[in-house]
Amino acid sequence: MSQSVETKALSAAFLDAAKALLGDKGWRTDEASLAQVSMPWRTYQSGHTPFLALPNSTQQTADLVKLCALHSVAITPQGGNTGLVDGGTPHGEIVISMRRMTAVRGIDPFNNSLTIESGAALVHAQDTAKSANRLFPLSLGSEGTATIGGLISTNAGGVAVLRYGMMRDLILGLEVVLPSGEIWNGLSGLRKNNTGYDLKHLFAGAEGTLGIITAATLKLFPTVAKASAWITCSNAQSVVELLALIRDHAGDTVTSFEIIPANAIDMVRAEMPDIRDPNPSAEKWRVLCELSMAKETHARETMETALETALETGLAVDAVIAENLTQADSFWKIRESIPLSKRAYGASINHDVAVPVSQIPAYLEATQAEIAALVPSAEIVAFGHVGDGNLHYSACEPKDASEPILSDFSDQITAIVHKQAMNFGGSISAEHGVGRLKRDELETIRPIAATSAMKAIKKALDPQGIMNPNRVIRSD
Ligand SMILES: Cc1cc2nc3c(=O)[nH]c(=O)nc-3n(C[C@H](O)[C@H](O)[C@H](O)COP(=O)(O)OP(=O)(O)OC[C@H]3O[C@@H](n4cnc5c(N)ncnc54)[C@H](O)[C@@H]3O)c2cc1C
Repeated sequence: MSQSVETKALSAAFLDAAKALLGDKGWRTDEASLAQVSMPWRTYQSGHTPFLALPNSTQQTADLVKLCALHSVAITPQGGNTGLVDGGTPHGEIVISMRRMTAVRGIDPFNNSLTIESGAALVHAQDTAKSANRLFPLSLGSEGTATIGGLISTNAGGVAVLRYGMMRDLILGLEVVLPSGEIWNGLSGLRKNNTGYDLKHLFAGAEGTLGIITAATLKLFPTVAKASAWITCSNAQSVVELLALIRDHAGDTVTSFEIIPANAIDMVRAEMPDIRDPNPSAEKWRVLCELSMAKETHARETMETALETALETGLAVDAVIAENLTQADSFWKIRESIPLSKRAYGASINHDVAVPVSQIPAYLEATQAEIAALVPSAEIVAFGHVGDGNLHYSACEPKDASEPILSDFSDQITAIVHKQAMNFGGSISAEHGVGRLKRDELETIRPIAATSAMKAIKKALDPQGIMNPNRVIRSD
């Protein structure tokens, strides 16, 4: 029986050649290093790999990929390994980690662009932009570890999508090592360049299945001053109408609009007692809203005027505007602590769905009713980027459950959450991607013509199927 490309044993000829071209610092085969890159952030199935490569240049990456192509060795590209869909965890492939490629290749404040290598953490790109009095606006909970290459490959979103778009919208050019080992140098600071297929968009969201991104030219923006508000609402319909009201006042300066249910705050407080609730209330919802403008006074005045109207009309029950950056950071601390607190709190079944913003209230009601009928004890925590229609929807085991039962219903709960998202014209993968986790389910949802086109693109670029096989689409 023939072996799949992932599980094929590595030959001595391949290993000797790979070690020679990578040099002593460029590879690992010890158990601890291999285990570290095989452990996903989320506790789905742990992976395994026989070899970790750590190239330090685009040429070295290209030479290694050429060698892999010659020996039919499967590759999993890896950045910070913070992905949440089992895309960057190896399942027999060698890992090519980009974590030694972190250099800033250039910054052009007048062109508002930054060229940086793909293994750099997001926070490094943000800090580099800041040092030139510019802003790189992508922001998310994993920004200390997630890398530019991983963020592009998953087309990451985060908390500023409302104003600046997703990672795809923030790239001007890419440098990529193709599955043949050929280097495509598409680094460019141009904003206008209509010269045929825009190849960079093929690699954004491809999750490492079409090549290894080695560097990117990113868009920068003017720095901004912010006004942040912690707003209490009694129901989800008010939250949706509040977004429209604030946008009427502030236009597209609404940068973040995050929804937080009261029970998520309880979880954060239970697991991290040092964190304060800025405005305790028995109402069910909070919104963390941020405006960003050139001048702080304008941002604050606009927020105040919008919130006065919201309080008068009853869309908001109460609101606190941060007095300073420290207070604004304390609002964000609660929001960013939800995933970790939820994990510490106990078992949960997690989802990343999107529906049109207007459908959020009906989606929440229908989904909760169906789950309650199946598992009355399940605690629902739905939080996240409501301004983008994106909810991180979790069913959680109650802390004091005498008999844990949630995992028995895991598949049924996921089926409900996803079915309802589709019923409301939504998506079962809003920002985290496909990986192996959602690959098969998406194949039943996506139009057949789209899957055929994706398979044709994959075959054309990677005829041997060595580049992150079985992620996004099946390799057969
Ligand atoms: C606490 C927490 C909060 C998060 N919040 C958000 C959020 O708000 N929004 C959001 O969108 N995501 C979020 N994520 C998910 C995650 O951070 C993103 O998916 C991130 O983009 C992955 O980057 P990474 O460098 O860790 O990539 P990895 O996990 O290493 O890889 C992710 C995928 O990209 C591929 N890949 C990695 N590097 C390259 C490369 N150089 N070339 C080609 N392919 C590559 C991998 O093969 C894999 O398929 C969160 C994760 C955590 C743990």
